[in-house]
Amino acid sequence: MNDLNLKNKVAVITGGAGVICSAMAKALAANGVKTVILDLNKDTAVATAAEIEKTYKTPSMGISASVLDKSSLEAARKEVNDMFGPVDILLNGAGGNSPAATTKVEKMDGSENPEETFFGLQTEGFDKVFDLNFKGTILPSMVFGAEMVKKKSGVIINISSMNSYRPLTKIPAYSAAKAAVNNFTQWLAVHFSKTGVRVNAIAPGFLVTNQNRFLLFDEKTGEPTARSKKIINSTPMERYGTPDELTGTLVYLASDLSKFVTGVVIPVDGGFSAYSGV
Ligand code: NAD
Repeated sequence: MNDLNLKNKVAVITGGAGVICSAMAKALAANGVKTVILDLNKDTAVATAAEIEKTYKTPSMGISASVLDKSSLEAARKEVNDMFGPVDILLNGAGGNSPAATTKVEKMDGSENPEETFFGLQTEGFDKVFDLNFKGTILPSMVFGAEMVKKKSGVIINISSMNSYRPLTKIPAYSAAKAAVNNFTQWLAVHFSKTGVRVNAIAPGFLVTNQNRFLLFDEKTGEPTARSKKIINSTPMERYGTPDELTGTLVYLASDLSKFVTGVVIPVDGGFSAYSGV
């Protein structure tokens, strides 16, 4: 077995104060990686970094920046370089869906209120979701990828989703944006293939987090929605995953264990993507 070669590496985790990516940052810190929690929300970024430093005795810093603003990312890169040196690992975690790009109706027959179907979606919702998931992966890859190419080593890991393989009902923008993330992962992996920089992605299965809770549980009663029941029935392991269950794949992709792996999207999904439903 190869050495992981992660100790003292520097990782930037975008959306690092969120549910999934804070768990991912902790898994990297547990392996001796210096972590940078880059998030729109300064307070939660700083608090997450402080918690990581305390728990794992590994340096961590919280930085406020937007993955949609290149100059704020460049300012963040300078801050990271001054504190920790060049970046070795970029985890593009910031992403999510928006109610403005979500239909109320799954399959329409034409008799519904158009507002509850595809025809009621707001183009601004599409813009928002595409920007956050797709452009929000491209810009950090440009800013932090440039220094990886310069030093001829580095790892970029994108966060995709089950909807990238086959779209999920109700969320056309989020599905298409994550499909774009998969496509871009392959494209950038090839583009960087001779530079020493690897590019891969993780496609998490279903987890309950802030961004999808409103679709999975009734806000008033807390009961699972019909959609929630369908998800469990479509997941051979018959349960939701947890953020911690994504971290083994993350460590594999970030480390030398996957030295010859680039351009893949790995599902971590309790079997969802393998199951036909029959
Ligand atoms: P989350 O909402 O808990 O965290 C997202 C974080 O990103 C937040 O801390 C937020 O402040 C930050 N953020 C938002 N906009 C930003 C911006 N412009 N710049 C920098 N930071 C910004 O999300 P999560 O559920 O932990 O999801 C993390 C990733 O996993 C996302 O890419 C999401 O699409 C993906 N994902 C989630 C699930 C799920 O079930 N929750 C499933 C598959 C994939």
